Amino acid sequence: MDHQTPPYSPPHVLIFPLPLQGPIKCMLKLAELLCLAGDIDVTFLNTHHNHRRLLRYTALDSRFSAYPQFRFQTISDGLSDDHPRSVDRLGDLLNGLWTVTNPNFKEMLNSGGGDRRPVTGVIADGALTFALDVAEEVGIPLIYFETISPCGLWTYFCVHKLIEAGEIPFQGDDLDAPIQSVPGMEGFLRRRDLPSFCRTTDLNDPVIQLAMRECRQVPRSRGLILNTFEDLDGPVLSHLRSLCPNLYPVGPLHTHLKTRLGTQSIPPLASSDSLWQEDKSCMAWLDAQPSRSVIYVSIGSLAMMSMEQLVEFWHGLVNSGVRFLWVRRPNSIVGEDSVGQIQEELSEATKERGCLVSWAPQEEVLAHPAIGGFLTHSGWNSTLESLMEGVPMVCWPYFVDQHVNSRFVSEVWKIGIDIKDTCERGVIEKMIKDLMNAKGDEFRQSMDRLSKLARESIDVGGSSVCNLNRLIEDIRSMKV
Ligand code: UDP
Repeated sequence: MDHQTPPYSPPHVLIFPLPLQGPIKCMLKLAELLCLAGDIDVTFLNTHHNHRRLLRYTALDSRFSAYPQFRFQTISDGLSDDHPRSVDRLGDLLNGLWTVTNPNFKEMLNSGGGDRRPVTGVIADGALTFALDVAEEVGIPLIYFETISPCGLWTYFCVHKLIEAGEIPFQGDDLDAPIQSVPGMEGFLRRRDLPSFCRTTDLNDPVIQLAMRECRQVPRSRGLILNTFEDLDGPVLSHLRSLCPNLYPVGPLHTHLKTRLGTQSIPPLASSDSLWQEDKSCMAWLDAQPSRSVIYVSIGSLAMMSMEQLVEFWHGLVNSGVRFLWVRRPNSIVGEDSVGQIQEELSEATKERGCLVSWAPQEEVLAHPAIGGFLTHSGWNSTLESLMEGVPMVCWPYFVDQHVNSRFVSEVWKIGIDIKDTCERGVIEKMIKDLMNAKGDEFRQSMDRLSKLARESIDVGGSSVCNLNRLIEDIRSMKV
């Protein structure tokens, strides 16, 4: 097709992430890949609050200024500036999105593209269930992007079956009881591996209701983008295709983008895409550590731990004798005020073998040769980033899809250890020692195989490249 011949008018896609770190990060990667297509106008919709943070802590504005067809646009999330937007107040954020962002989004789509060409297509996070209703009303096609894992998403889709079969709410308190109503996962999925919201006794719980609404909306959209590759998630993708036939598995997006930039001789990403200031001093500290001697500890952008859990992790880490780089995000400890005292008590051991930062350049950290393991909350981005760098994991999942992800890490992909629901210093010490020794080598073999398949998928003719090209063609074909 000759895209330059009139009356062809270039497509204009509006990308609408859930306003949280993980979704923003991988949707920005997709946005840049779409910019590289050359003829697609791309608008990235941030909340005012997150956009201010991105401008403060990153050079994204200047990075994207390389793409004349790209621009950021902002919208209210309905919360005051000083609202913490932390996981314990997520209900407020969801409420703001539905009551304030939703009507503003509709107005934005109705008014066309402002000073730009009209929006011809929307890519929205799967959790933004209202976006499809708005897009349908305005007459604009919408593709959903699920930034959680495909295995996690498939369990979301099976929630109604689990309820019908009486498997949730759980009868009795045996969390090791096997689960039978998630096709393809019989045999290894236990109650404790289901998404965290399945532990509710109240089926009217807003989170389980949101997940079920998401599963009703997503199959009604024009297609579904996933941050994975066929060879990692083949069986789960087959199940998902039975409900959403038009899937675009285009991942792993962070590597896909780096590779694509490389082939177009565009310099590698210089800027972070974080809502927190990255502390790069840890890179110099890592440079001074022996190869594969350090465990990287991070629970991502939302998870929190109690003071008791912090103490157990700290003792487990220190007693393991392994060097560690620990991200202690602001507001990640419940009752943070008394952390100072613990910090003092354990500071000697920390000084000897540890480095603490409040936010790390994670992709760079995982790629550093001194890193030998990752103690993670099993967020989907973190899991893919670790997999691609061949860093084996100890998984301590916190919520949503993370419980499923950690089970897949240990039982399906065999690239790490799952310690979910355990936070005891002796166990943590042993698991870290195991990971940094013989078990780590075993896991690295599986990772080498998987990351090689991932690289093939983003090479010329690979599955993720073909899926991205198909997505680009579909966006080009969208007309209002
Ligand atoms: N991240 C980072 N620095 C940190 C911690 C996390 O850059 O100190 C990034 C990480 O690379 C990942 C994202 O934040 O891309 C977290 O996403 P994930 O899906 O793993 O977990 P979430 O934060 O959504 O729970």
